[in-house]
Amino acid sequence: MLNPQSDLILVAGGAGFIGSHLCRALLDQGHSVVCLDNLQTGRAQNLEGLSSDPRFEFIEADVVAPLPASVTERTARFRRIYNLACAASPPQYQADPEHTMLTNVVGSHHLLRLAEASSARFLLSSTSEVYGDPEVHPQREGYRGWVNCTGPRACYDEGKRAAEAMAFDYARLGRAEVRVARIFNTYGPQMHPDDGRVVSNLICQALSGREITIYGDGSQTRSFCYVSDMVDGLMRLMESETVGLDPVNLGNPVELTVSELLAEVLDLTGSRAPIVHMPLPIDDPRRRRPDIDRATALLGWQPRVGLRDGLERTCAWFARELAETTPQRVP
Ligand code: NAD
Ligand code: UDP
Repeated sequence: MLNPQSDLILVAGGAGFIGSHLCRALLDQGHSVVCLDNLQTGRAQNLEGLSSDPRFEFIEADVVAPLPASVTERTARFRRIYNLACAASPPQYQADPEHTMLTNVVGSHHLLRLAEASSARFLLSSTSEVYGDPEVHPQREGYRGWVNCTGPRACYDEGKRAAEAMAFDYARLGRAEVRVARIFNTYGPQMHPDDGRVVSNLICQALSGREITIYGDGSQTRSFCYVSDMVDGLMRLMESETVGLDPVNLGNPVELTVSELLAEVLDLTGSRAPIVHMPLPIDDPRRRRPDIDRATALLGWQPRVGLRDGLERTCAWFARELAETTPQRVP
């Protein structure tokens, strides 16, 4: 049991999309949360509702650099460390591939060393990208993946694979208690409208009447998990005592093509924006669906929010967001 008066939970990447929801959920459970983020893709406005809480603290710092004194001077108080720090959108993480690789490898190393020094439990937010463009479908945790280590996605995919390797070494050597979540595509409110992922792109384009961009012919598949389900899965995994030395897939196994996703978005928004097809990015995985048997068996977890419901909530949030940021026309 954590003592909210004295114990701290560190959320690296807590100003980002999933991280800000996680910080909210941890505060709602009564915990004290320190959010560390360099605001590369995270946003201060994601923290607006959190900053007024006296149990919440934001530290602007990059995990690639040695951790700041404001963290290390309280080493003994950290009990849980969630490492979500890393841009998740392909155009964002490819914009500075060297920094992406360092964030995953050096950043995870800094946080694992903190976990060791504080005897805190460490959770790595890994990714379905460790499976690359998978030859096995759906993807179970035992599948070792088909990643192109020389392509433009490698800084992220291989960075996460290296971070997993390091985390499991820390666990095997008894240096830290470790949990590894392999997160599949997650969506919901507080995604950055310009971050380039498919759900945010399609919804924002549909709502604003701009050209809707479909890469390739739209037949590639993904499986989309609503953010509240993901946060629930991450917290269950962190607190699980039965996981052992195994990664755990977290995602919604309902698989659909990008064209089917677009049809849902058009139906929900009533948009008649034009659709343009653009080249499929290099190494874009053809299909992706998690096998979540392990998460269900070990954590009693499965997603509860259906795609239609989740997209409705997300469209409503983006509609408000765009209304606030779009300049009003002078009559
Ligand atoms: P996001 O880009 O919204 O959030 C990432 C956060 O990390 C941002 O706030 C960013 O500013 C911060 N960050 C990046 N590099 C950093 C650094 N060097 N130092 C400190 N902070 C840094 O992405 P997200 O969707 O919230 O993803 C969160 C985590 O989950 C990431 O680790 C990502 O790899 C993983 N993940 C997400 C998805 C998804 O579909 N959302 C899928 C697989 C894995
Ligand atoms: N995609 C698309 N249009 C967009 C953005 C993405 O068709 O505007 C496609 C992309 O090529 C991929 C899928 O949607 O096949 C999911 O892309 P995303 O960037 O969301 O995540 P990832 O490729 O990392 O799963």
